[in-house]
Amino acid sequence: MNLQILGRGRPIVVALVVAAAIAMFAIAASLLGVRTAQAEYAGPTFTTAPVVTKVEVPQAGLATVPVGGVDLWSGPDRDPYFRLHEGVVLPFLHRNGDWLLVTTMCNETAWVDAADVEVQLQNQPQDLGSSFDISEAMIVLDPGHGDRDWGGVGPSGLSEKEVNLDIAVRVRDLMGTAHDVDWDSGAISLGSEVAAFGSVVLTRDIVGPNDGDFEAGLGYRATVGIAAGADAFVSIHNNTVPRKASDIPGSEVYYSTGAEGSDRLAGLIYEELLRSFAEFDADWRGGELLGARARLDPETDDDYYGLLRRATMPAVIVEGVYISEPDEEALLATEDFREAYAEAVYRGVVRFLSTAESGADVNSPEYFHYDAGTVSGNGCGLAAQP
Ligand SMILES: [Zn+2]
Repeated sequence: MNLQILGRGRPIVVALVVAAAIAMFAIAASLLGVRTAQAEYAGPTFTTAPVVTKVEVPQAGLATVPVGGVDLWSGPDRDPYFRLHEGVVLPFLHRNGDWLLVTTMCNETAWVDAADVEVQLQNQPQDLGSSFDISEAMIVLDPGHGDRDWGGVGPSGLSEKEVNLDIAVRVRDLMGTAHDVDWDSGAISLGSEVAAFGSVVLTRDIVGPNDGDFEAGLGYRATVGIAAGADAFVSIHNNTVPRKASDIPGSEVYYSTGAEGSDRLAGLIYEELLRSFAEFDADWRGGELLGARARLDPETDDDYYGLLRRATMPAVIVEGVYISEPDEEALLATEDFREAYAEAVYRGVVRFLSTAESGADVNSPEYFHYDAGTVSGNGCGLAAQP
């Protein structure tokens, strides 16, 4: 994660960094007894001190671990106990002066010194619709699974964790550049109609531990979206074990019932997935459940999926195709298909942010009695900076 990506559309962060750099240079120069060019400048003088405005310091945001790693502390001014790997995004929802209370990938809290990380303050989500400024958008992409949690694995050994990450990176790349979109055909080309997105953050990024193949808990993933103030949160997955054959891809997009707008986001991404996948020929094994859907836990009436239950921002889980099926695994192994998947997510998010359109096949929430089990966070290990 580089500062350019994090800082785009966030001049206050850049300004703070620049101000800090100037201050550090001045202090270093004075300690060394160096006369700076500024000291010899005999230009205009000011008779009044510059006005210092008290700035409200937001409590929440994202802290990205810079090259070289960062110390995790058990408490402000206590002891550092671990040096965390570079390239990880740490969400924080509380700060105490210069200390940020972050959530680690293993769903635990720790303190970091704000001066040791690249801080991006929480986005204030904009109103959706035609006035939405995509150059200020904050999107969180969540590549499903990682490390010992492989997700679904195809008959040839292709794993969800690998494919999901690659697709998420492709979405980020698309969002990082301005494009023209032919909305009749879905074709995306370089242009200016859709601005480059302000900020796109991955919960598992290739600059992180093990090239992005690391474990990340559901609590952590959701907290990244919440602390970021994401305009949209998209978790990227592929499915396993279809119930029956289908004439069309068995794509499913699950939405949060608690976070407003999630159903519309799901419908639009679903519609765009079908458009993208129509270009490909396969013996689709699809499921019997298609479209934008929501699952409720019958005991709590709340979202069945922990990620969507925690969401406070428009949030969906995309299940593109069935990696467990030979034809669909073969497609997922190709660059063309991954790019088509990524383009569908891109177009769906653009339409969600900048129009009032609703997508296709948005189904009402239904109770889900099957216990899919939960991925245990037990034994989750943080990656140390080498
Ligand atoms: Zn999955």
